[in-house]
Amino acid sequence: MDCIFCKIINGDFNTEFVLENDYAVVFKDINPKADTHLLVVPKKHVASLNELDDEILLGKLMMTVKDAVKKCGLNSYRTVINTGKEAGQEVFHLHIHILAGNIKL
Ligand code: 5GP
Ligand code: ZN
Repeated sequence: MDCIFCKIINGDFNTEFVLENDYAVVFKDINPKADTHLLVVPKKHVASLNELDDEILLGKLMMTVKDAVKKCGLNSYRTVINTGKEAGQEVFHLHIHILAGNIKL
């Protein structure tokens, strides 16, 4: 599958992970829209929230958000999930944006 986030998860680009657990990785967005801009990405390929049918995974992803912000010392932040081209989704592998500080979005 030609998916940039699957390749990142696979280690193809030696991307540094802010955090990794059994079901997700967290890494810095390449084009940050805030002082801190992280992406929480499930290890399993799911194209978007529309294709997600696993509520347990969704809960685990949100708990991963909490773990990542705690690790970064943040307690005020915005989470965003873009779903579909018209809403601005560019990478069709589900991800949760975490934005903090001078958010330009
Ligand atoms: P979307 O618009 O799909 O919600 O968000 C995709 C995000 O992935 C964008 O903010 C974009 O900057 C980021 N992105 C795209 N390609 C890469 C990449 O190769 N590495 C990293 N770290 N981020 C990427
Ligand atoms: Zn993927």
